[in-house]
Amino acid sequence: MENLSKTELLYDGNEKQIYATQDPDKVIIRYKDVTTAYKNIKRARFEGIGAYNNKISAMLFEELGKEGIDNHFIRLVSDTEQLCRKIVWINIVVVVHNWFAGSLARRLNIAEGVKCPNVIVDFRYNSDELDDPLINDDQAVALGLASYEELKFIDATSRKINEILLKRFSDAGIKLVDFKIEFGRTADGQIILSDELSPDRCRLWDAETGKKLDKDRFRQDLGYIVDGYKEVYERLKK
Ligand code: 5GP
Repeated sequence: MENLSKTELLYDGNEKQIYATQDPDKVIIRYKDVTTAYKNIKRARFEGIGAYNNKISAMLFEELGKEGIDNHFIRLVSDTEQLCRKIVWINIVVVVHNWFAGSLARRLNIAEGVKCPNVIVDFRYNSDELDDPLINDDQAVALGLASYEELKFIDATSRKINEILLKRFSDAGIKLVDFKIEFGRTADGQIILSDELSPDRCRLWDAETGKKLDKDRFRQDLGYIVDGYKEVYERLKK
């Protein structure tokens, strides 16, 4: 296996860093022990959370890859780092909902925890300044974010990812309430799943008790956040 290491820091985000490597098509993503919410107004350091996010993301990306979902993950480098294919971000946030919760429940005035009768896939424009507003296909094309064909592919792929993950979490006794994913373009123009798939990006509730095991623990002060992430990791690993 090629021996790649971190060279230049390309991006320093709230919760992750992206480093170039000796290979121009590959990057190393480092997950920090930091959690932020509400556009960085709430922020804290939690020892070990970066490792859980890194290892859960790696596990799910690897499994999705085996199910035919092309994604950026190549291999784990350490507890907090993974080697990934380099992509150019597509500035669309895809949020998939299976149960009403969070902003969708508020927007449509439906009680949190009600099952969605059908899967709901939302596209949002990835813009901190505008607070990630909902966009439709025409708006996404007008903004030059993607073509109609690419949007169709992103929508269909997101639904396939949901089917796979819904079952995977259900087998671990967890409800996958909703989750956020992002896609990117590789150097040869292929659209692949990127970013991360972790309790930072999903709502995960214990199937029996409804206990929240995800970032809402931090957002809503529901208890020590790392305990929830650890439980998710251990249940998925079984
Ligand atoms: P909501 O719109 O209710 O805030 O989020 C819906 C789902 O997408 C939740 O699982 C939430 O964790 C995820 N999500 C949406 N936007 C963001 C974001 O900016 N950061 C993080 N970490 N998760 C987000």
